[in-house]
Amino acid sequence: MTETALVVRRQTFRLYPNKTQERALLDARRLHCYLYNACVAHRRYEYRRNRRTVTYLEQQNILPEFKKAWPEFAQLNSMTLQATVKRVDYAYQRFFQGLSKKPKFKPIKRYSGWTYPSATGWKVNTDGKHGTVTLRDLGITLRMRGKAKDWGKPTTLTIVYKPTLRQWYASFTVEVEVPRSKFGSRSDLKYESIVAYDLGTETAITLYDGSEFYEVANPRFTQRSEEKIRKIAKLKRRKRAPRKRVKASRRWKKINRLEAKLQAKVARQRRDWQHKVTSEIARRYDIGVTEKINVKNMTRKAKGKGKKRKAGLNKSILSVGFATLNRLLTYKIEQKGGLVLFLPTQTLKPSQRCPKCDAIHKEWADLSNRYHVCPTCGFAIERDRGTVMVFYNVATNQQPGLGTRLVSLGCFSSTSETRYTGSMKQLGQKKRQKLCCQAGEETPPAYAVG
Ligand SMILES: [Zn+2]
Repeated sequence: MTETALVVRRQTFRLYPNKTQERALLDARRLHCYLYNACVAHRRYEYRRNRRTVTYLEQQNILPEFKKAWPEFAQLNSMTLQATVKRVDYAYQRFFQGLSKKPKFKPIKRYSGWTYPSATGWKVNTDGKHGTVTLRDLGITLRMRGKAKDWGKPTTLTIVYKPTLRQWYASFTVEVEVPRSKFGSRSDLKYESIVAYDLGTETAITLYDGSEFYEVANPRFTQRSEEKIRKIAKLKRRKRAPRKRVKASRRWKKINRLEAKLQAKVARQRRDWQHKVTSEIARRYDIGVTEKINVKNMTRKAKGKGKKRKAGLNKSILSVGFATLNRLLTYKIEQKGGLVLFLPTQTLKPSQRCPKCDAIHKEWADLSNRYHVCPTCGFAIERDRGTVMVFYNVATNQQPGLGTRLVSLGCFSSTSETRYTGSMKQLGQKKRQKLCCQAGEETPPAYAVG
């Protein structure tokens, strides 16, 4: 008997509205956009006049009055209106925390859609493949196509419109049952099949399972498509783009759409590649070990010296999609009851550490140095391979000198982090929490190499 746990996943379907249905969807989207902007205006006004910060609750409580003054809003589901008000609140919270700029008014072409934050007001009819969804407030039933990897109890629904592609999507959060991790705490880890991996730019993924190294090459499709996109972008520059009080030409719009379509295609190809690679790894191994990366820091706009190289690095990082790879691999390994350990890069310095003698060599931090020879013990290895070897050694307590100091390093296990799906989830008050994995000091692993 295996215990199961409920996790939340996001599943997206494409919608196929007919003409009248699309009219209704576009109208609803426009109203939500108005409401969003009205909330921003309200906050700005109060701050300018009275130096006062308007709260979410305040705006939520005005909604009934607002609907009296603007009767066209009355037909919309009131919870979706609250969710839109909440979007403004999130934007301001992020601004107050210094995470983003001051919220702006949104033009309709940048406004994506709206959310039903609970399971009411709509009804979905699907077994995970195609089906229909009914939006009660608009009184329409839409055809939808798509296949969910896991389908379960749908909890929230977000309607998304992509203006350049003129496509509609229904994005559900779904509660899915998965087996609970076999590995409750580190002390009873079995190391049946453990793999250390590192995501890179030259080699997309380098893996080490204690006996062998595997390298997954970077997919080339992005480079090929990039060339096409560059060509189209050049043509686009010759057409009249939209400016203040100047409409875009029909030709510009046409080519803009073509570009968006191509970009969407590349995105699909990338997603497909990511799924294939992560499925294969998750099929073979129960435990993954990698480092906690901060893609946002890595891709931060480069300044000054080495700018061009950094820009190239950014591009390839983004094209491989580090964060997505980690996310997909984590959930696939967890699905079968395994887990992924994230080691702290800052304290571990895996790329500067010798996997044989644990000496730290600062000069290894230089990325142009692709082959490492340890001046202390003479151990020679390719940089990426050395890094994953350190991961592997640390996770299996074989790193000399480091022993079981994993606790003090502050390692995170994937199972200890809550899944964060969709910005609207908080309306159902699920708090984001981070727990440190309970790493035990006892028992070195039974599994050992050689
Ligand atoms: Zn060494």
